[in-house]
Amino acid sequence: MKHKIVVTAIPCGIDLLVTATAEDGEIIARHICSKEANIDHDTGFTSDWQHDKYDKYYPDGWELIKGAIITEGPELATEDLTCPFCGDIGYDKYGLKWHLMHSCDDYENTEEE
Ligand SMILES: [Zn+2]
Repeated sequence: MKHKIVVTAIPCGIDLLVTATAEDGEIIARHICSKEANIDHDTGFTSDWQHDKYDKYYPDGWELIKGAIITEGPELATEDLTCPFCGDIGYDKYGLKWHLMHSCDDYENTEEE
């Protein structure tokens, strides 16, 4: 039987934080998507992106399931955002974007793994 990997998204500043979660609740992959239309590609529905991480976690087979994709929420209105990767606090939505692109070590580590 194939293991299920559930992809969900929540607002993260001006972008979306997309998470791929294993059946046991472990987060296998996290990714920032600039828009909802990129999710299928960036999480591996329509590409091989992240597949190495999924293969490593479930060597005997897996399938991707689309979970809740939330593209708007109260997080977008706040000016006091927390980086979901390194936990730094106090960003507004544009500041968080800049931080992820330029100064977040944990985000870069996630990408390179
Ligand atoms: Zn960070």
